[in-house]
Amino acid sequence: MIRHLMAIIALGFAVPALAAAETPPPITMIKVGNLIADPAQGATGPATIIVQNGMIIDVSTGTNVPSAPEDHVTIIDMSDKTVMPGLIDLHVHLTGDPGGDFWKQTTEPDEWGVVVGAKNALLTAKAGFTTVREAGSSQYSAFSLRRGTAEGLVPGPRIIAAGPALAIIGGHGDTTGFTEDINAALASGYTCTGANECAAKVRKASRAGSDIIKITATGGVLSQQGRGLEAHFTDAEMTAIADTAHSLGLKVMAHAHGARGIEAAARAGIDTIDHGTFADEAALKAMKDNGSALVPTLMAFQGVSDGLGKGVYTPVVENKIRATLDTVGKAVTMAKKMGVRIAFGTDAGVFDHGRNAEEFALMVSHGMTPREAVASATTVAAEVLGMEGQIGRIANGYSADLIAFDGNPLEDVTVLEEIDWVMVRGRVID
Ligand SMILES: [Zn+2]
Repeated sequence: MIRHLMAIIALGFAVPALAAAETPPPITMIKVGNLIADPAQGATGPATIIVQNGMIIDVSTGTNVPSAPEDHVTIIDMSDKTVMPGLIDLHVHLTGDPGGDFWKQTTEPDEWGVVVGAKNALLTAKAGFTTVREAGSSQYSAFSLRRGTAEGLVPGPRIIAAGPALAIIGGHGDTTGFTEDINAALASGYTCTGANECAAKVRKASRAGSDIIKITATGGVLSQQGRGLEAHFTDAEMTAIADTAHSLGLKVMAHAHGARGIEAAARAGIDTIDHGTFADEAALKAMKDNGSALVPTLMAFQGVSDGLGKGVYTPVVENKIRATLDTVGKAVTMAKKMGVRIAFGTDAGVFDHGRNAEEFALMVSHGMTPREAVASATTVAAEVLGMEGQIGRIANGYSADLIAFDGNPLEDVTVLEEIDWVMVRGRVID
C-alpha cells in the first residue's frame, strides 16, 4: 500500500488518491421498533443495529441515531417494525419450478436452471429467507447461482448448495421413466453401487463444488420410479457416503420417506433426514441416538395435494402421493415428543417459491410452539449447517441478514408470511 502511494506521489497526483483512501467504509444504521435477536430470548423492544462490510458490528438498546448523519452513514428506519434474524430454509430447489411434466428434462438445458434460479432467489429472499440449502439442482446450476448471490450480481439468499444428488440406479434422483437410451443420455453421473463407488461419488461432488452431500436414501414421491418409498441404498453404501463426506468436512442430507430407510440413514451417521414422512419410534430413536435432525418439508405435501386427480401427475406418482397424505406431519409430533431436533425446510420448487413461510403454521398445527418453529428456522437451522457463529442471530460479528415485518411471530407465526424489508449480507433486497 505504501509503495503504491509513493508511486502515485511520484507521478504527481497524490492528493485526490489519498483523500479517497481515507473515506471510511459505508455504515448502515437500522432503527428497530421491536428487536428479536434470538427467538429463545423473545422480543426486547427498540434497538439500533449498525452494519458495516456486510456484518453486524453493533447492537444497542434504544433508537439513538444521529439526526444529521455523516456522508458515509445511511439510516434505515424500521422503528415501527419487528426486526429478526433472516430465516433459513434447509430444503429448497431454486433452479426448478413446480410442474408435473417430467419430460421437460429432455427439452430444458441445465443452464436454464440458473435463469429460473435467479428469479426464484429473489422471490425467496423477499419472503424473508436469507440463507437456503439447495437440496439438488440440474447438474451444477446451483453453484453458479450460489456465486451470483454471494457476489451480489443476483439478488437472493446465501446458498449452501448440494449440486446433483447421489442416487441408486433407477432410484429417486436418477433419471427414470424414459427408454434406457434416453435415461442414459440424461443421467447426472451421480448414481452409485457399492461402498467404493459411493465414496468415489462423494469425492466427485466435493471436487465439483458441493457444500453438502445430498442423497436420496429412499424412494421418492414425484419421480417416475415405481419401487416404493423404502430404503434404496444398502447400509454399507450409506455408511461409506457419510464417512467419506465427514472426512472431507461435509455434512450429508438424506431425502427419506420409509421408516426403515430413515432408521438406516440415521445409523449410518447422516446429518439430516429430510421429509421423514413415515418415521416411526425406532426410526426416531435412531435419529436421536445419532444426532440426526428432522427437516419435515410439510409444505411439499400441501403443494402436491393441490394437483391430485387433475391429470397433473402420472399414475405411478399419483399412487405414491396418495400413500403419503394421511401420514404427513405425524413424524413432527412424535419427533418433538422424543426430543429429536427439528429444523426448518420446505422443499420449495415442489410448490411455488416464495411461499416458504407457510411452513411455520403447518409446524405449529403438528404440535410445535411458535417459539420452537421460529427457532427451527434461525438458531436451530444455523446449528444444523454448522454456521451458528455466523447466521441465525442478531449479534456482533454475525452476517447482516435481517428481516422486518409487523407483529410478533412468537405469538402468531403467520406474521412471517408478510415480510416488508430484507437485508442479506448487508445488502438490501429490493
Ligand atoms: Zn426436495
